[in-house]
Amino acid sequence: MIDIKQEDIEDGLASIYQSVITNTSKEMSCFSDFPMPEDFPKFLHNSKLLEYFRIFVKKFDLLKYIQFQTTVLSVKKCPDFSSTGQWVVVTESNGKEQSAVFDAVMVCSGHHILPHLPLESFPGIQKFKGQYFHSRQYKHPEGFERKRILVIGIGNSASDIAVELSKKAAQVFISTRHGSWVMGRISEDGYPWDMVFHTCFSSMLRNVLPRRVVKWVMEQQMNRWFNHENYGLMPQNKYLMKEPILSDDLPSRILYGAIKVKSRVKELTETSALFEDGTVEEDIDVIVFATGYTFSFPFLEDPLVKVENNMVSLYKYMFPPHLEKSTLACIGLIQPLGSIFPTVELQARWVTRVFKGKFGESNSQILQTSYIDYLDELALEIGAKPDLLSLLLKEPKLAVKLYFGPYNSYQYRLVGPGQWNGARSAIFTQKQRILKPLKTRALKTSSNFQVSFLLKILGLLAVVVAFFFQLQWF
Ligand code: NAP
Repeated sequence: MIDIKQEDIEDGLASIYQSVITNTSKEMSCFSDFPMPEDFPKFLHNSKLLEYFRIFVKKFDLLKYIQFQTTVLSVKKCPDFSSTGQWVVVTESNGKEQSAVFDAVMVCSGHHILPHLPLESFPGIQKFKGQYFHSRQYKHPEGFERKRILVIGIGNSASDIAVELSKKAAQVFISTRHGSWVMGRISEDGYPWDMVFHTCFSSMLRNVLPRRVVKWVMEQQMNRWFNHENYGLMPQNKYLMKEPILSDDLPSRILYGAIKVKSRVKELTETSALFEDGTVEEDIDVIVFATGYTFSFPFLEDPLVKVENNMVSLYKYMFPPHLEKSTLACIGLIQPLGSIFPTVELQARWVTRVFKGKFGESNSQILQTSYIDYLDELALEIGAKPDLLSLLLKEPKLAVKLYFGPYNSYQYRLVGPGQWNGARSAIFTQKQRILKPLKTRALKTSSNFQVSFLLKILGLLAVVVAFFFQLQWF
């Protein structure tokens, strides 16, 4: 039996395995007025991300506002809520309960804490004699040597865990119902994927080009690295932009035969797994259910934020729509196809303005959203979205950088509330911070600027032509 130390997995807290590395890059993941240190790598090990949070907290002297080791037991409306909008918050710390009244509450408790363990979908699991557990309990690959392991699901947890275990185990199988697109962290010219994928220009292309063209281009791009059909990974609904897997190693581990991709599990026996396609894998020692998470708000009065089938009904993914006063908001209850940190930061900037009475009120959405469109919408409403057209006249170099360059959050500090004088410089120096950690061997630099610039101009022309064609169709 593999020893999983329960003390490392605390109830009610998020839990990660030791090797987790961010899947969004440092320039696209930092807070908008605080770039990550130059010598930090492009993608951060979780300990490095913690270091960034620590220096952030120190720089803005935030520690004094944080009460550690404190559990929120309840958040209830004050008796005079309809006039004051205030909340009574009861907390517990070291066995002692305390109550305090607050003018407004932001719920930032996340949605990756409660494991989703759908054992009812796995007939025969009660007979299975090996070990099984949810991915939340996985910490490191020690103890899994020479085992035959079945990983259920194909999210980022399943992929990371299967890859790591496949270096020690006798054999790893991944069972997937619907498949998934897999992308590498490294994209064109060795730049991080999100700095290439998330640009204003490419977002505009996705919005203006006919949907059929966008779908076709996306499929070609996703299959450029390796053909997903040949690797058994082709998503069932290939045009649904479900969160892709970010893994540099999964295709190679499949290529080496260390990981075998299987279809949905139909039944389990004492030692084996029968799959939907009729194949059977014998002598399974361990099953890892990397089947994702669910979420709830036990401390909130029912039915303040109702969670049904992992969906919530919140205005702009933040406000419960039926409150008399908009003084409570959920932050981070969203699955952007980009970094969560700039997203929650803009949510917080938007929400604080609502709390201060500078905005109007409060629809139903699932958590996944269009990254750039959502950020732009929030920034526009609080006056933090730079106007590209006037910028083009005043400072064309900056406007071109914002339009064709990586869509990072510094731009939301150029104008409006919370304007930061360092934003312009942060935008122009991001390449330097991305390349710095790689400069461990001095080389003479060469420039390939002209070709990429020319391609962008040609791309822009193509879009203008496509746009006018599209107008003619309507
Ligand atoms: P997830 O993305 O929700 O994936 C869950 C997987 O379980 C899906 O493939 C789903 O399949 C499958 N599943 C759910 N119920 C099932 C059932 N009854 N039978 C069979 N399969 C079932 O969960 P996750 O991988 O734990 O990731 C959670 C979040 O953490 C994601 O946002 C992820 O990106 C993030 N994460 C990040 C990193 C990193 O930064 N390196 C690492 C790990 C996780 P279907 O798609 O078919 O429903």
